Amino acid sequence: MSSVTSSVLNYNPDGNDLVDNLLIRRLVIIGVGLIGGSLARILRKQSNGCGEIIGCGRGIVNLQTAVELGVIDRYTTDIAEAVTDADMIVVAVPLGAMAKTFAAMLPNLAPHAIVTDVGSAKSSVVADARAQLAAHLPYFVPGHPIAGTEKSGVTASFAELFQKRRVILTPLPETDPLAHAKVKKMWQLAGAEVIDMEVVHHDEVLAATSHLPHVLAYSLVDTLVKMEERAEIFRFSAGGFRDFSRIASSDPQMWHDICVANRKAVLYMIDLFNHQLQEFRVALEHEDSKTILEIFTRAKVTRDKLQEKLE
Ligand code: NAP
Repeated sequence: MSSVTSSVLNYNPDGNDLVDNLLIRRLVIIGVGLIGGSLARILRKQSNGCGEIIGCGRGIVNLQTAVELGVIDRYTTDIAEAVTDADMIVVAVPLGAMAKTFAAMLPNLAPHAIVTDVGSAKSSVVADARAQLAAHLPYFVPGHPIAGTEKSGVTASFAELFQKRRVILTPLPETDPLAHAKVKKMWQLAGAEVIDMEVVHHDEVLAATSHLPHVLAYSLVDTLVKMEERAEIFRFSAGGFRDFSRIASSDPQMWHDICVANRKAVLYMIDLFNHQLQEFRVALEHEDSKTILEIFTRAKVTRDKLQEKLE
C-alpha cells in the first residue's frame, strides 16, 4: 500500500504515525466502560497503538478503578478538559448521552482531532454529530464494534473483546479520508475486521440481528416474571432458558437508548416477528405438523451454518 502523508494529521495509513511510530499520540476515551475500556486495553498492548490514554466519565469510582487496572493513564470528569490536545477521541457513552458529550467537547477540540463513537445505532449519532459538531464533521467517523457482553463498566472490559470481530464504520459524505483511514487502522490494531456501511442500512441490519433479540430476551423474562408460578418456573429453568435470556442481563438504560434511537427499524422487526409468531401459533392450533417442522428445520439448518462460520 502506498504511503499517504498529511502534514495536518501527521498520519501514514500503513499504520505508523510519523511521530514516535505511534498511530495515536493522545487518546481520549469518554465513557470508560465495557467497550471504551476494552479498546483502551488492546491499544495499550500494541507497541504502535497509542501514547497517553485519558479517560473521562461522570463517576470517579469507575475512572479510579480504570487507572488502578492500568486501562487509562489519568482521568478527568470534565469533557472539555479531557479532549484538549487529543488527536483521537472515542465516545463510548450510551446513545442518549452522545449529543451533550459532543456539545461539551466542541470548544476545546483541536482543529483536526479525530472524533469517533461506538454507538449501537448510527442514524441518531449522526444526527447528534450534525447538530453539535457541524464545523468538525469531516473529522467525525461514526463507528460500531459488533462485539460485547451483557456486562458493563471498566471491570467488565478485556483486551480480546474485538479479536476477529467486525467493526462497522458509517463514514459520511463529508468524512475526511485520512480520518476514516486512521479510525479503520485503530480498529484493525484492536484485532477487528473493519467494514464500511451506509448509516440507514446499518440500523436496519442491527435491528434484525441485535436489537430485536434483546427486545425478545427482555420480553420473555418479563412475561415469566409476571406469572404467579414464576418461582417454580425459574427454579426449573435450564440451559435453553439460560442461553436465550443471557442478554436480558444487559444494561436497561443502554438498551432503552438503543431501542428509542432505532425505533423505526426495531418496530419494523417487531411487526415481522409478530407475523412469524402468529404463523407458528396458527400451525400449532391446527396441529399442522408439516408447517411446524418446516419452520424448525429451516431455522436449525440456518443456525447450524451460522455457527460453523462463527467457529
Ligand atoms: P458501559 O460499560 O455502561 O460504559 C458506558 C460508560 O459511559 C460508563 O463507563 C459511564 O461512565 C459512561 N456513561 C454512562 N451514562 C452516561 C451519561 N448519561 N453521560 C455520560 N457518560 C455516561 O457501556 P458499554 O457497553 O461500554 O456501551 C457504551 C456504548 O457502546 C453504547 O453507546 C453502546 O450502544 C455501545 N455498544 C455496546 C455494546 C455492548 O454489547 N455492550 C456493543 C457495541 C456497542 P460514568 O458512569 O463514569 O459516566
